[in-house]
Amino acid sequence: MAYRFGLLGYPLTYSLSPLIHRVFLEESGLQGSYELLPIAVDERTEERLRAAFEKMRQGEYDGLNVTIPHKQAVKPLLDVLDNKARTVGAVNTIYRNGQALFGTNTDVEGFLLDVGQKISLAQGGTALILGAGGAARAVAYGLLGSGWHVWIAARRPQQAEQIVRDLASSESFQGEASARMRAYSFHELDFVRAGVENLRLVVNATPLGTKGLEDGSPLPPEIKFPQDACFYDLVYNPPETTFLRQAREQGHEAWNGFGMLIQQAALAFECWTGYKMTVTAEIESKIIARIQQSHD
Ligand code: NAP
Repeated sequence: MAYRFGLLGYPLTYSLSPLIHRVFLEESGLQGSYELLPIAVDERTEERLRAAFEKMRQGEYDGLNVTIPHKQAVKPLLDVLDNKARTVGAVNTIYRNGQALFGTNTDVEGFLLDVGQKISLAQGGTALILGAGGAARAVAYGLLGSGWHVWIAARRPQQAEQIVRDLASSESFQGEASARMRAYSFHELDFVRAGVENLRLVVNATPLGTKGLEDGSPLPPEIKFPQDACFYDLVYNPPETTFLRQAREQGHEAWNGFGMLIQQAALAFECWTGYKMTVTAEIESKIIARIQQSHD
């Protein structure tokens, strides 16, 4: 059997997903393909998403990924959302059971798997998440589930407050998480200057720093963070962002979101094929080599 996977989003020109899944197919010995399915936002978006889902129901696709700008829009078009996708409010992976389509969110575990290789998650602590969109929700969900305290700062503080309310009232945490969350506006980040006990992780969950926004960073340059805080940028293209540079210049350890990208893809691959794709250093190197070849 040859699997057929696809990615719904727009624009998809720079997507690394086909290349990553090609490596997974080779590593697993499974046959298959991964297609880009660009769907722009216009009056026909819902019709096109529904058409792709109908093909999947009929067995034409074995798995679909969803990326910006459709991660929220696909929710009402699916038959079942798991707890994670419901609480996070975004779907990035769709799989089929019979003719029913299920939505899940592999960004949550993708983030935890990658960060967990860099710092001890079991030790707990406080994380500051900058940005309050879909990815911030996934990161907050994962860290709360790992016992962490989570502070979310956004340029529109009501967006951060909404995440706190949604997670606090979700089935996954049954109310116990509200005492472990706080919402801030970017303008209030001064509090960090006073020294924050146990602030172990600062996460950029805004698109600032990504291609086209290279000079941007959500970190106010004047703020000094506790010396043992680590920094994680969900942005991975370019690999070195302004956020990472700022952190390293202050002597902090800092990583980009490339590892998370591969881990979330591996989890989607497992979801569709049942094959447990463990991301080894060799697999990561192979993916990096393929990216370099594609630029030559
Ligand atoms: P999103 O839902 O659009 O949310 C983006 C958040 O950033 C929103 O809170 C937005 O605030 C804020 N923001 C945008 N521009 C800003 C600016 N100029 N200044 C301050 N805040 C700004 O996007 P997302 O899905 O959460 O993705 C966020 C980033 O994470 C993207 O770059 C995405 O590619 C990356 N990501 C990486 C991975 C990975 O595997 N490494 C996975 C998921 C996402 P407003 O609502 O006020 O605009």
